[in-house]
Amino acid sequence: MSSWLHRVATCYQLDMRLLLEHDLGHGRISDLDSSLPLALLTLLAQRSGFELDLLRCMSLAGWVPWLLDSLDDSIPSSLDTYAFQFSVLLSKKRRKKRSVSRWRAWIPPAPIQRACPLCLKNPDNEVLLLAWTLPLMLSCPVHGCWLESFFGLPGLIFSWVNYESIPRMASDKITMMDRRTWQALTAGHVELPRRRIHAGVWFRLLRTLLEELNTPLSQCGPCAESIRHIWEYSGYVCRAGQTSWYPYELLNLSVQLQFLEAAATAIDLIESKVVSPHGEQAELFLREPQDWFTYDLPIDEESTAPWQKLFKTIRGVVAEARHNPEVARSLFALASFGRRDPEFLKDLTTIFIMNGIPAEYLSH
Ligand SMILES: [Zn+2]
Repeated sequence: MSSWLHRVATCYQLDMRLLLEHDLGHGRISDLDSSLPLALLTLLAQRSGFELDLLRCMSLAGWVPWLLDSLDDSIPSSLDTYAFQFSVLLSKKRRKKRSVSRWRAWIPPAPIQRACPLCLKNPDNEVLLLAWTLPLMLSCPVHGCWLESFFGLPGLIFSWVNYESIPRMASDKITMMDRRTWQALTAGHVELPRRRIHAGVWFRLLRTLLEELNTPLSQCGPCAESIRHIWEYSGYVCRAGQTSWYPYELLNLSVQLQFLEAAATAIDLIESKVVSPHGEQAELFLREPQDWFTYDLPIDEESTAPWQKLFKTIRGVVAEARHNPEVARSLFALASFGRRDPEFLKDLTTIFIMNGIPAEYLSH
């Protein structure tokens, strides 16, 4: 809202503050991006011809309850409700619950000044998006380059913090994560490998993942190795070097950006099956497992011939092995025909993983 009003005021060679004060009767500019009074929104709708709902979504109040549950930071257990209902990397029993007295999802103490250098190259439309003021995305969803820190305000006094190195293109894993966040913000849903999820679920999954990545390794049990691998693969030290826990929203921007990059890495490593997540919602990032064991078999559902019965039994056993370690181990013993050579067993394990049977079921 502040970016749009600033650009509107500039068209009339006015200062935004003057436009608001003298023409719209609103003396403040600090609340423009959080929540606007209905009277001002109604006036803006009348003058601009835009729908009231569209104008509401230009401030954070319009993103309640999907991006965050409430703008009120005094609701007890709000962090627990938002970031500890789901689990992705860690099993729920491993999650140490945290509580803070005043908390709002995604909103830092002061708005972040970041923008896309390529979006701002258009002198007729130097837009600053509301999402860029939150530690929610790393890159521009249109241009795929990193959002960069700046001083000042476009059109007035303006300077990039690192003007020598911009624009920098973001990696595939970052643009993939940010494209999903952008889809949540603009379409209200996200297409994940398993199925489409509601935008509200996406933002909570992402926040859950950031919280899991901020769990001390000593509390991660069997998942510690996965968490350590994710941080290492991101190129940062575990927990971005944090030794004490603070809510993600209160961390320094440079630390938040490392956490977001680790989250993008985690999603990439889950989807490419390099790490085995233990959380309940992790399967959303994995395609429906295909039954490769019986994929080529000419199964006839109607037939009662002995071979057909065997095919269907194999299919049933594979389905059960995905959830039952004992069945998985028995099936593995049968499929290995008593062979012990490591190369063969490694290939067989890969076939089991491709069939959606967790590797850890086979290791005991
Ligand atoms: Zn851009």
